[in-house]
Amino acid sequence: GKPRQREFDYFNLALQWPGTYCQRTRHCCSSNACCRGSNSPSVFTIHGLWPDYNDGTWPACCTRKHFDEKEISTLLDPLEKYWPSLSCGNPSSCHEKHGTCSAPVTGDEYNYFLTTLNVYFKYNVTKVLNEAGYVPSNTEKYPLGGIVSAIQNAFHATPKLACRNGAVEELHICFYKDFKPRDCVVGSSSSSDVLSSSNSCPNYISLPAYAS
Ligand code: 5GP
Ligand code: 5GP
Repeated sequence: GKPRQREFDYFNLALQWPGTYCQRTRHCCSSNACCRGSNSPSVFTIHGLWPDYNDGTWPACCTRKHFDEKEISTLLDPLEKYWPSLSCGNPSSCHEKHGTCSAPVTGDEYNYFLTTLNVYFKYNVTKVLNEAGYVPSNTEKYPLGGIVSAIQNAFHATPKLACRNGAVEELHICFYKDFKPRDCVVGSSSSSDVLSSSNSCPNYISLPAYAS
């Protein structure tokens, strides 16, 4: 038979900053709450809970199970609000790309999405940054090191950021399989490594306010 992909090593909770990514894409805007002025989120939203390998690669589409919206019908309200990219998935490819590979830990589809929401609410990156003074702004720039430190102090683990044109587009926080926080950067503790791992970001970055 076909060789199975080996089980993943850790979880990567990938968060998006709508103020940045909505500037560059109108992809599936009609269904995507983030691109509607009415919702105008100034919170990080969920891109995905990604099972990853320590070597920087990841498994995908581990079983043939297809995404069934009915299984998560009771979660649709919070998912639309906090995981708006979900409605933009490409149904022609494997639709349970990450969920099926997380299954040894997160179980069935319902539990995968519920677990992701729970982790997202428990580790509230937006709140941590706001409380440290990093609030959405179209004029301020913030030190990358300060943002990384605020997350490190709150979760005792190092996140990874990705930027576009000097603005935060993604922020990843990582977890062991028991959902205790861990560094996203493998084998690194020095602050220069930490910063170079977020290497699409300059030393001073912006957190743009959402513009509808
Ligand atoms: P992008 O090219 O937009 O960074 O990534 C496209 C897609 O590849 C993501 O939406 C995600 O499904 C997958 N991907 C990108 N980076 C990672 C990663 O570090 N881990 C996992 N598991 N998937 C990733
Ligand atoms: P990406 O390739 O960007 O991780 O995922 C593409 C889209 O599919 C994203 O909008 C994401 O929210 C959604 N998605 C990611 N992982 C899964 C999954 O395991 N199951 C389902 N149904 N959607 C997913």
